[in-house]
Amino acid sequence: MEIRRTHPDTEIGPSNWFTGVAYMNNLKQPSDSNNLAIGSVTFTPGARTFWHSHPFGQTLIVTEGVGLVGRRGVAATEIRPGDVVVIEPDEHHWHGACVDQSMTHIHVNGVGLDGTYAIFFEPVSDEDYLR
Ligand code: MN
Repeated sequence: MEIRRTHPDTEIGPSNWFTGVAYMNNLKQPSDSNNLAIGSVTFTPGARTFWHSHPFGQTLIVTEGVGLVGRRGVAATEIRPGDVVVIEPDEHHWHGACVDQSMTHIHVNGVGLDGTYAIFFEPVSDEDYLR
C-alpha cells in the first residue's frame, strides 16, 4: 500500500492537447500489475481538450465547477460535480470548462501495452465549443 497526500507533479497541459490553460495532476500511472491511469485536470474558463479518442475508453468524474463534454455532430452537454461520463473506446469527443467557469474532473483510462491511452486530433473550434 502507498498513501500519497500530496501531488507535486501538476503540469500545464500541452498546447497540442488543449486550447487554453488546463492543469494536469497525475494520480496513478500504469504499473506492472495493472494498466489503469488515473489523473485529474482543472480547466480554466474557456479551456478544453482538442478532439481526441481513447483506445480503451475513458471514465470522467466531475468534482468541481461546471464543464462541457462534446461529441461529433451534436451540441455539447453541460456536466457538473457528481456527473460520471463514460466514453466508449475510439469515440471522438472533447471535454472542458464552460466559457465563464472552471471545471475539474478525475479521469480513469486503460493504457495499452505501448503506453497509448489517447489519440489527439484537431482543436475544438469556437463554433463546436459554443454550439
Ligand atoms: Mn477524453
